[in-house]
Amino acid sequence: MTTLFISDLHLDQTRPDITSALLEFLDSRAKHAEALYILGDFFEVWLGDDHSSDFNEQITMALQELPVPLFLMHGNRDFLLGQRFCELTGATLLEDPSVIELNGEPVLLMHGDSLCTGDEQYMQVRKLLRDENFQRDFLTKSIPERQAFADSARSQSKEHTREAASDIMDVTASEVVLAMREHGVTTFIHGHTHRPQIHNLEIDGLPARRIVLGDWDRKGWFLESSQQQLRLHSFDITPT
Ligand code: MN
Repeated sequence: MTTLFISDLHLDQTRPDITSALLEFLDSRAKHAEALYILGDFFEVWLGDDHSSDFNEQITMALQELPVPLFLMHGNRDFLLGQRFCELTGATLLEDPSVIELNGEPVLLMHGDSLCTGDEQYMQVRKLLRDENFQRDFLTKSIPERQAFADSARSQSKEHTREAASDIMDVTASEVVLAMREHGVTTFIHGHTHRPQIHNLEIDGLPARRIVLGDWDRKGWFLESSQQQLRLHSFDITPT
């Protein structure tokens, strides 16, 4: 049996090509899988489960029709995906971090942004956005107000990404080791950095691996676990 992992699709109505690629992925590979895990930043932005739009409805329906168990983790852009979205889609919300059992082995799952500790400015912003009181207050605002906040946060984040050194935008190697040791795993899967790769490591003398999922843009990426093997696949996304 096959388990699939994806992240960082950044679904947005301005990118119908990525939406089409997702719909095709759900209707082909995913529906024959044992389970599908989405490890964050599935949406480019999520303003709250009470924000109804044709686009949100289209994606929600597509997930609802998927006949396999679906697991969802928040990313730094869609951390407001809530109870109602999960009920509608049948998704189970996973804590970040979570440990699952895969092929009889414990595997650590994270979105990945919490390990980018070299980026102090981002860690500050993250602390605010993940704060329960901040989120509760935010959800009392009107949709246009939330949209305006999200737009300005996104343009600041883009500017910061342009200016920040490339290495601080990646996960901190020592934090990876700490997290894997703390959770007692030799396999770790995350997204966020848009640097898809399988890294072989050694932790406390044991062979270990860190698998980074890819973002969906010109290419789509997914990790396939089957017959004890983990394989990272990519495919072309056809422009619409
Ligand atoms: Mn992210």
